[in-house]
Amino acid sequence: MIKLLRECLEAKHDQFVNELTHLSMIDCGTDNKAGVDTVGEYMQAKLTTLGATVEKLPHDTLGDTLIARWHGTGRARLLLIGHLDTVYPDGWVETHPFEIEGDVARGPGTADMKAGLLAGCYAIEALRDTGFSNYAEIAFILNSDEEIGSPSSEGLIEREAQGRDAVLVLECARENGAIVSSRKGLAHYHLAVQGRAAHAGVEPERGRHAILELAHQIIALQALNGCRPGVTVNVGVINGGTKSNVIPAEAWAEVDVRAADRGGLDEVVAALHRSVQQPTVPETIVTLTCSSSRGPMEKSPGTARLVSMCRAVATSLGLTVNDAATGGVSDANVTGAIGVPTLDGLGPVGGLDHSPREYVLLSSIVPRTTLLAGLIQAVAENPGNRSEK
Ligand SMILES: [Zn+2]
Repeated sequence: MIKLLRECLEAKHDQFVNELTHLSMIDCGTDNKAGVDTVGEYMQAKLTTLGATVEKLPHDTLGDTLIARWHGTGRARLLLIGHLDTVYPDGWVETHPFEIEGDVARGPGTADMKAGLLAGCYAIEALRDTGFSNYAEIAFILNSDEEIGSPSSEGLIEREAQGRDAVLVLECARENGAIVSSRKGLAHYHLAVQGRAAHAGVEPERGRHAILELAHQIIALQALNGCRPGVTVNVGVINGGTKSNVIPAEAWAEVDVRAADRGGLDEVVAALHRSVQQPTVPETIVTLTCSSSRGPMEKSPGTARLVSMCRAVATSLGLTVNDAATGGVSDANVTGAIGVPTLDGLGPVGGLDHSPREYVLLSSIVPRTTLLAGLIQAVAENPGNRSEK
């Protein structure tokens, strides 16, 4: 069967690359609704051709999200996830056009994640071509806003993931070919200091120095790095004050906090709250507001089982595939955090995401898409992994 899948996919390699070229050359940054919808319409047509029922969930300002469904004759329920948007501003494709150099296909959104979207379609097409229908349902969510934390699609992803045997996220495999079995959890905070303004030369004692307090907070927060293995804290943006001759009344910072497990995240967040309750500069007020968060995707027993299945399929293809942990977040955090067996990095091999040199390796398209098809088949034939929720 795996040989048959591979042959199907080998025959479609050039078509895959043509479609990748086309999709890469569409400006579709998250805030470009028209661009994201152009990609969505293309994918909707493609999915319909592949026999899916496709539902469009319209959005006023962000792109529309799609959910495709295929129904078969078996028991297993799988969910695939990929996103339509990129991080690039309008006009980027003109200055950074898709190009092929040897094995490297460089272009906006190639690794992150048009190649993954196409891998999902081609894997399902290959399974259909070989007559495989031993699943109850395969659903495929193509959301429009992953790059800003999936505000419009997170609820849908969480609902659709419930009770699935597996969630397969189609971000590209890492540069060394590894799939992703765990991702850190993340919380973003806005830290604001309220002080009091005063003339810096005439009566500085009447002021309450917001920037000085923020400086103390920054040092305390940065010191939390490594308070538990895998915990990172980064004060990445600061702002404050008005003029050099004014004691600043206001200052603020943006903080990124990550941890490998729920306990670590809770611990570092508690430390953050303790820090802001103890200002060093008297009579300043420090407030902490969480602007977004993602739970950690931990390597649960269900996910470990998916890793083993994936490695077994890889072996049958003559590939060695390892799994890796990463500090970056994706929609896999949403489904992993609620305990549904989740595996990520199942697209072709690529890297340098979010940079002008983003790429995928052409030679990885057929093997990785075959691996994905084989994994879907393996899970479908051996469900019994369903999370009890
Ligand atoms: Zn990305």
